[in-house]
Amino acid sequence: AGRDDTRRVGLIFLDLDGFKTVNDTWGHAQGDEVLKKVAKRIEASIRAADTAARLGGDEFAVLCPDVASLGQLQRVAERIREAIGRPVELADGVSYNQLSASAGVVMSERENTAEELIQRADRLMYHSKQRGKDRVSAEDRSQDMVALRAAALVPELGRAVEHDEFIVHFQPIVDLRTGAPVAAEALLRWQHPRWGLLGPEEFLCAAETSPHMPEIGGRVLHLACHHAQQWTGAMADSAVHVNISGRQFEVGDLHADVRDALEKTALPPDRLVLELTETHAGRAEDSAKTDLERLRRLGVRIAIDDVGTGFSGLVRILDLPIDILKIDKQFVHGLPDDARCEAIVKAILSMATSLRLTVIAEGIEKRAQCDALVSWGCELGQGFLFGRAQAPVGPPPSPATAGA
Ligand code: C2E
Ligand code: MG
Ligand code: MG
Repeated sequence: AGRDDTRRVGLIFLDLDGFKTVNDTWGHAQGDEVLKKVAKRIEASIRAADTAARLGGDEFAVLCPDVASLGQLQRVAERIREAIGRPVELADGVSYNQLSASAGVVMSERENTAEELIQRADRLMYHSKQRGKDRVSAEDRSQDMVALRAAALVPELGRAVEHDEFIVHFQPIVDLRTGAPVAAEALLRWQHPRWGLLGPEEFLCAAETSPHMPEIGGRVLHLACHHAQQWTGAMADSAVHVNISGRQFEVGDLHADVRDALEKTALPPDRLVLELTETHAGRAEDSAKTDLERLRRLGVRIAIDDVGTGFSGLVRILDLPIDILKIDKQFVHGLPDDARCEAIVKAILSMATSLRLTVIAEGIEKRAQCDALVSWGCELGQGFLFGRAQAPVGPPPSPATAGA
């Protein structure tokens, strides 16, 4: 599929439900027999060109080259699930009917590695387990499905906090005229032992409503300050931007968390910028405003992220003590042709000029977008044109100094 982009490979990832009972009750020899029967049933449900494999334990996978659609692949997976669910005869004449399979089904996308494909299918399999087993979950990129899958992650989050699986990557913020980096934004990643590197879109929504968000937020602050402290050369005095979740801002003790991170890492406060999303900042209570004022007296700067996405809160935001506005990438995306995007970008730029705020444009992917922004007076930006988020070079903080 990598060689020919019109072809897509399908992958079905299966994990048996109720297999442990077979081993525990009838012994491993019987368990082995059941696995062989399952393998035969999988083979009987697929085409000759497909490849079935046992990945280990009670996990199987089926690779289907040349599938026409996700729907077709789902039907194959359902057929396998039904076959596995039929009762199995055990040696002593017992018929065991508690066996079933939880499956995840994915189609390759261009440039997917085999590893990534397996990880995606594995996560969907896990989702099937969470939803009550004996089912097939297929990849659906709609928001509802994303949210639903995220909810299934909550029990995993606690473990991840304990095992220190949250890390940050850094994306450069550059001077748009020269392309030279002037600061960097810390972006949260989850290094999951089975599913690989996950981005915030895949788990943040679950994390925000979980009890673990304060800890994760504290950890991000600490990591970001720690790495920034190690920057050398042109970046030695540069600012690090850290995203603050609505929960941290509204109910947590942001001021205490920030002071803690700055003290433990010895990062000068004027090298820290906190990013609050426009939506959350727009709903800020007076107590939150006081918090921000105290942070600003320390020398920490405040940025409003994703500006333009929630204009209703704008009046309230301008009442907050802020330094920077970040234009949301959806408006940069439409440049230079979309007149509505141009209007919003220009409005934000002119507002920032009169209020003496710095502007950073996000999501710059094309030279033409950058040129338009520069011609309207926008000086700073970030985006794939200049660099994606990357793992930091220095070592992580040692556990002894890890705050949070
Ligand atoms: P954000 O703060 O607006 O971050 C920018 C997002 O845009 C990042 O996605 C970044 O990788 C992506 N991006 C950068 N340049 C481009 C580009 O040229 N094109 C496109 N299409 N995208 C670009 P990421 O890392 O997936 O983060 C998504 C959002 O998750 C962030 O949006 C932020 O709201 C949230 N987030 C990330 N890290 C943290 C964190 O540590 N704490 C909290 N509370 N939220 C975080
Ligand atoms: Mg941000
Ligand atoms: Mg943003």
